[in-house]
Amino acid sequence: MDKKNNAAEALREQLCFTTKNGGKVLSADVIAACDRYCEGYKEFLDAAKTEREAVITAIAMAEKQGFVPFDPHAELKPGDKVYLNNRGKSLILAVIGTRPITDGVTIAAAHVDSPRLDLKPNPLYEDSELAYFDTHYYGGIKKYQWTAIPLALHGVIVRKDGTCVTVTIGEDPQDPVFCVTDLLPHLGAEQMKRTAAEVVKGEDLNVLIGSRPFLDDEGSEAVKLNILSILNKKYGITEADFLSAELEIVPVFGARDVGLDRSMIGAYGHDDRVCAYPAVTAILLCGTPAYTAVTILADKEEVGSNGNTGMNSAFLRYFIDDLAAVFGAKGHHVLSRSLCLSADVNAALDPIYPEVMVRSNAAKLNHGVCITKYTGSRGKSDTSDASAEAMGTVRRILDEKDVLWQTGELGKVEAGGGGTVAKYISMLDVDTVDLGVPVLSMHAPMEIVSKIDVYMAHKAFLATMKRD
Ligand code: MN
Ligand code: MN
Repeated sequence: MDKKNNAAEALREQLCFTTKNGGKVLSADVIAACDRYCEGYKEFLDAAKTEREAVITAIAMAEKQGFVPFDPHAELKPGDKVYLNNRGKSLILAVIGTRPITDGVTIAAAHVDSPRLDLKPNPLYEDSELAYFDTHYYGGIKKYQWTAIPLALHGVIVRKDGTCVTVTIGEDPQDPVFCVTDLLPHLGAEQMKRTAAEVVKGEDLNVLIGSRPFLDDEGSEAVKLNILSILNKKYGITEADFLSAELEIVPVFGARDVGLDRSMIGAYGHDDRVCAYPAVTAILLCGTPAYTAVTILADKEEVGSNGNTGMNSAFLRYFIDDLAAVFGAKGHHVLSRSLCLSADVNAALDPIYPEVMVRSNAAKLNHGVCITKYTGSRGKSDTSDASAEAMGTVRRILDEKDVLWQTGELGKVEAGGGGTVAKYISMLDVDTVDLGVPVLSMHAPMEIVSKIDVYMAHKAFLATMKRD
């Protein structure tokens, strides 16, 4: 290389913004740390396929580190660790910092619900001597992806007497599994002429659960009766109990390494466990921070954050009010000075479908955690759009702690769009920045992330919680 090119190279290094592939720029030690960290993440994925399981698993992890249920009437001092379990479906963890609570808190907010098939309130029916669960899909799915794959049933049923039974069928290799059948290609000519949105219709997502009739029964719907009999013996439930249940159909397969180089993880529900797990491990490892640290695992993000376990509810505000009151302060004085990382996934550039992305503003696998200034759709509709100052704060924290980061928009302008919990938390007067892990095949039964990016998300949350 001649002298002139060297000068250009030096100037380019000084002036140009290029993100870097962690596989090229990280040391072998750091990459080994990424791989080690992700072993724990895979265990979390397998243990926590639903929001309820994620809350139970995170509480168990936190209690092991000394977290106790939050008591708004008890005193708190720096280093104290508390949690608030919101109806078993969302969770707040907090570690009290050394600064006054009125300096604000550091929040990492991820969600633990994922797209799936929910059972209808009256789900069980028989047709042509086959028994089915009728479903209503939850969140944004490509319906055709949910046919002809093994499915498991997870959830809870509240019986007539008020007692609650937990159901998990399909995860143990000895368990039976379930399936939504699809039409054979030989007879699929008419079906294949439909648009992809209608190839499989929402009302046709019926889960096959049985085919053998109840013995000694001459009446109709003997297969359905047999299923009810099995459920009654196992769980003590009757058909009316489905009304007071939350039963979710999810893919059976567990998290697996992807690629001959094992650089990626394929699993159901990376969105948004891939941010939830790093946000939990960060608060477990943040020691006694300067600013009080808060991790939120929210429910209902995939359906608009509504309901009293979603972020568009008052449970965070009430918690901060109660926390502030412990120190004789007002909640809104805390919120107004707080910083939140809205921890959610972003779309990774998929070279098979590059037409929906602009490369210069698309997140890439292995280029680190993705900072996103705004989400939304069309003309920045439905987004909080972080301020330059908040973006500057986050960027500086990540740079200081050698966190590999990049930026990305959710696709081209007008290509589509999406939202996160950022707008609900910013509504509380909190400076909020979206930050999370790039995902391939987002919302598919099997999503893919890079191990380097998962670990960088953990490092990003930890660095932000430990800010001075
Ligand atoms: Mn998400
Ligand atoms: Mn999502």
